[in-house]
Amino acid sequence: MRIDIMTLFPDVVGDMLCESILGRAQERGYIRIECHQIRDYTTNKQSQVDDYPYGGGRGCVMQAQPLHACWEHICSEAGERVHTIYMSPQGKIFTQADAKRLKNDYNRLILVCGHYEGVDERFIEECVDEEISIGDFVLTGGEIPAMAVADAVCRLVPGVLPDEECFTDESHWDGLLEYPHYSRPEVWNGRRVPEVLLSGHHANIAKWRRKQSIIRTMRRRPDMFEKLEFTSKQDKKLLAEIMAELDENKKTEG
Ligand code: SAM
Repeated sequence: MRIDIMTLFPDVVGDMLCESILGRAQERGYIRIECHQIRDYTTNKQSQVDDYPYGGGRGCVMQAQPLHACWEHICSEAGERVHTIYMSPQGKIFTQADAKRLKNDYNRLILVCGHYEGVDERFIEECVDEEISIGDFVLTGGEIPAMAVADAVCRLVPGVLPDEECFTDESHWDGLLEYPHYSRPEVWNGRRVPEVLLSGHHANIAKWRRKQSIIRTMRRRPDMFEKLEFTSKQDKKLLAEIMAELDENKKTEG
């Protein structure tokens, strides 16, 4: 997987994505992330990338010319039109399913980071294939969203994490939140690690973790819980157990 990020702050973005797991994955050649300075593609002496909005109003708009020249440079180097995503608070909200889709459907992506009031609409019409938002709030620039998308997609590329279970076991992969984690020591600040995790009994540990996942999802994300279908015998049994425990708690509280 190769990701090209178009930004006014390539050093910040590049440095962040060169650290830790993604840095090692880049060194080992599993992924490649290149950051491009949009300013290098201006045709004016001042390297200006933005200008006043037509129609008046506050702020500046990133001009189409340098964005298009930068985009064309990346595509011509790739020898093809590369799937292009504009990071935008007006886009579809990014989910784990999108990360999986982007990783499965493309081996190259361009992520465009806007700034100021955003980018000239004509660049979006001409070059952008989809718009992605990281949530219903507005940031000053698309750099943090681009880093989030690049990270979420790249960690799914084979070889980046030690094995598939690193992400298939995690929150949002199969509609559940993950179970709680504990590490040494066994007792910290008077709080004990749940006994079952110290038992070495793998089947019981797996059952406990699944149950905790279901309980967490039910409590924290009822919207996700509603969409779940419990088809396996074990899940049905766990769900019945959880419901019985909830009933019992209600009785004792009442
Ligand atoms: N004027 C725009 C609007 O109201 O929709 C907001 C522009 S914002 C201040 C500047 C840039 O930050 C955008 O062009 C976009 O690239 C990025 N951005 C801000 N919030 C974002 C979000 N929630 N998701 C993705 N990108 C975002």
